[in-house]
Amino acid sequence: MGDMVVVRKEGLYCVPGGFYIDPWRPVDRAVITHAHGDHARYGHGHYLAAAPGVGVLKSRLGDIQVQGLEYGETVTHNGVRISLHPAGHVLGSSQIRMECGGEVWVASGDYKVEPDKTCAPFEPVRCDTFITESTFGLPIYRWDPEQQVIDEMNAWWRRNADEGRCSVVFAYSFGKAQRILSRLDPSIGPIVCHGAVEPLNRVYRAGGVALPETRMVSEIDKALLRRAIVIAPPSSSGSPWMKRFGDYSDSFASGWMLLRGARRRRGVDRGFVLSDHADWPGLMSAIQATGAEQVIVTHGSIPTMVRWLCQNGLDAKGFDTEYGDEEEDEALPPAGAAASKDAAKEAAAEQAVEEGPSGEPDA
Ligand SMILES: [Zn+2]
Ligand SMILES: [Zn+2]
Repeated sequence: MGDMVVVRKEGLYCVPGGFYIDPWRPVDRAVITHAHGDHARYGHGHYLAAAPGVGVLKSRLGDIQVQGLEYGETVTHNGVRISLHPAGHVLGSSQIRMECGGEVWVASGDYKVEPDKTCAPFEPVRCDTFITESTFGLPIYRWDPEQQVIDEMNAWWRRNADEGRCSVVFAYSFGKAQRILSRLDPSIGPIVCHGAVEPLNRVYRAGGVALPETRMVSEIDKALLRRAIVIAPPSSSGSPWMKRFGDYSDSFASGWMLLRGARRRRGVDRGFVLSDHADWPGLMSAIQATGAEQVIVTHGSIPTMVRWLCQNGLDAKGFDTEYGDEEEDEALPPAGAAASKDAAKEAAAEQAVEEGPSGEPDA
């Protein structure tokens, strides 16, 4: 039997099943890992997704024909047994397990290994072939525990509030924003959300995720704004919407904040290194836990990960996809100098991988 999943111009295609996974062009049948824009697009005839993610899909794509599948539940399509398993990335995110003729493939979508309060934790699924993302697939990417980052954010907010200054956090409106909200300390002051964030909060609450009380900026007294924290999408940075907050302190929450150039490019006071993707050790532990002998790497640092996995005895290759990085979707265009410095740092990290696995985590 040939590969169960191949790349076609429409997207990843399950050959025996006759369906696509997160296709980037309109198709008849799509199985969707999660509702970020680069994975869940308009125009498919039929969508299959994890039940906890159906609300988000509908809120973003409108009236689509979508079937929700509980995690672990199985459907059979053209002889392929399909089940969805938590990916720990955002509400309703899943890995897609496909079984046919005794062979098992798993497509990860985007995933994060560290659990958080806003979605089901990542579940390792045994398989023969694992299709993994590689957004942060370089050894330089290592995250501090969420608790530590959130403690720093609450302390920063408290300090600003005590000095009578509003705190603004730029964070991707679906996923990152709710993850931050779930951990903020509401005793410090009011929590204000941008109009792009609040509809997603509603979907999360409807899905049973506990979030503190949030308010729209129009609902809050101007004097109270000086103790407030504001969660807003990156695209609102520098917009007229920001003017009402007066002399505010701003920050950006993203895995990319690990890179000095990215911090400078954002021009914010603080960078909080908080990602909804696995870091390098997370990718390695997730891949190992699948027991897969073949690994196929998608969007991110494909050549580095493939080289590393091959050096560690796995059969690895890459798939070219049209998935992007949802955190950069709302990004400002990068300035040349700072961007090339980050590129140099990434190149150095790739070089280190090429030189050998010493001192790096197990593959
Ligand atoms: Zn995503
Ligand atoms: Zn992705």
